[in-house]
Amino acid sequence: IMREKAAPAPRAGLRYEEIGGLARVLERVREVVELPLRHPAAFAALGITPPRGVLLSGPPGTGKTLIARAVATETGAHFIAINGPEIVDRFYGASEQQLRKLFEEAQQRAPAIIFIDELDAIAPKRDALSGEKQVERRIVAQLLTLMDGLAGRGEVVVLAATNLPDSLDPALRRPGRFDREIRITPPDREGRREILAVHSRPMPLAADVDLDALAEATPGHVGADLAALCREAAMAALRRAGALDPDGLALAVEGLVVTAADFAEARRV
Ligand code: ATP
Repeated sequence: IMREKAAPAPRAGLRYEEIGGLARVLERVREVVELPLRHPAAFAALGITPPRGVLLSGPPGTGKTLIARAVATETGAHFIAINGPEIVDRFYGASEQQLRKLFEEAQQRAPAIIFIDELDAIAPKRDALSGEKQVERRIVAQLLTLMDGLAGRGEVVVLAATNLPDSLDPALRRPGRFDREIRITPPDREGRREILAVHSRPMPLAADVDLDALAEATPGHVGADLAALCREAAMAALRRAGALDPDGLALAVEGLVVTAADFAEARRV
């Protein structure tokens, strides 16, 4: 009996559409990370090796973590997150063992993405390391060994985020390691408008909220700032509706909207 193919279950997790203002960056990410994860055989057939490591560089709060999580969702890849500073364990050999375990897990659950946040915290230039930075030295060495050991078939990609790409140990940037870099810059006005649109999408907005004007008025704001702005505006709306009043429990959320004045209030705090 021919059975109709069930529609794929919608994947839980962050999607590309929840990332604003980074269309060009996402194009690069799809080419460099998504393509090899989806079509490892195509790379082999063409005689090229897919990247094992990709560096996402850019200031804090610009969406590096979001990008890593979104590629994992979109490709259905297993996602393993490592926080640079957190993996540093003074107990002899513990950090290296932890890293080995995570790489093993990635290979078993491939396709997989290993995301290392704040790579610069564990992998500064080696000559900059003082005597007591022995742990970091060993972690870098272990990381390099593990990356060299990846079969190069593209099923495991290591994504690392840093806001100090120039302070990284150059050994990490050699071919076969983090040899691709995708730079993320703070959003321009149009990017800010897109990010504001993403974060205000689930909010009931009053007609007087002008996202273009807000984008214009927030130069220097990165994604994290704009997300916080939207959150604060919603909080201002709650406050205005009397959520903090003694009888605030009876707060009527029906018809509650976030107004331009709430955004103005949010920008003051
Ligand atoms: P850090 O270097 O501090 O880890 P990051 O670049 O990894 O920063 P994220 O953690 O990705 O930044 O972003 C923090 C939060 O800011 C996100 O959870 C999201 O709410 C918001 N944000 C940042 N960039 C964007 C963006 N381009 N589009 C939508 N939201 C964004």
